[in-house]
Amino acid sequence: MADSPRDTSLSSLPLAALVACHECDLLMRKPLIKDGESAECPRCGYELFRRRHHVFKRSLALVLTALLLYLPANFLPIMQLNLLGQRSQDTVWSGVIGLYESGMQGIAVVVFLCSMAVPLLKLLCQLLVLLSIRLDLGHSYGLLLYRIFHHLREWGMLEVYLMGILVSMVKLMDLADLSLGVGLFCFVALLLVQVWLELTMSPQQIWEALAEGDAHARD
Ligand SMILES: [Zn+2]
Repeated sequence: MADSPRDTSLSSLPLAALVACHECDLLMRKPLIKDGESAECPRCGYELFRRRHHVFKRSLALVLTALLLYLPANFLPIMQLNLLGQRSQDTVWSGVIGLYESGMQGIAVVVFLCSMAVPLLKLLCQLLVLLSIRLDLGHSYGLLLYRIFHHLREWGMLEVYLMGILVSMVKLMDLADLSLGVGLFCFVALLLVQVWLELTMSPQQIWEALAEGDAHARD
């Protein structure tokens, strides 16, 4: 842990040189740390931030992987159902259409937003933010997109949707002949890649790179 002295001259420092603890609200001088190190709050021990190696290259690779998985996850069959001789294949998209056509338009819109539209918008925001840093252009748009991304985070609910799929599968298993589709594996992979991306894409490094155009941070 790097040292983060508390002193009386904090008010004379620029805002970018200060950091507040998310847990106990202690305001302190931002600790200077190297790649691979993390900074902890001296009062409560909460991890303030971590500097990751090659954060931009790794995040870009993960965003592109997630975007490649997005189409098969939403448009390939999640399951095949064989009920009384009738076979049906269900995708996330066909689920949304099914809800809409059976009179549940409101729920269809919510499912579409939370499981398809918002996750895609989040990925596109992340992609454009990373490209803005990597190509060193349009940092003001990058900042705007990264702010939008943080607002969208609460609305992407792939994990809730996955739980819904799994629960309905367990219930359907007793009633019909059920087999898993490629779409489900892509959906789970998309979810895992997004969690990995959240862990890799250190917000501290992204904000710094966008605000300061930090040349060292672009690998
Ligand atoms: Zn603290």
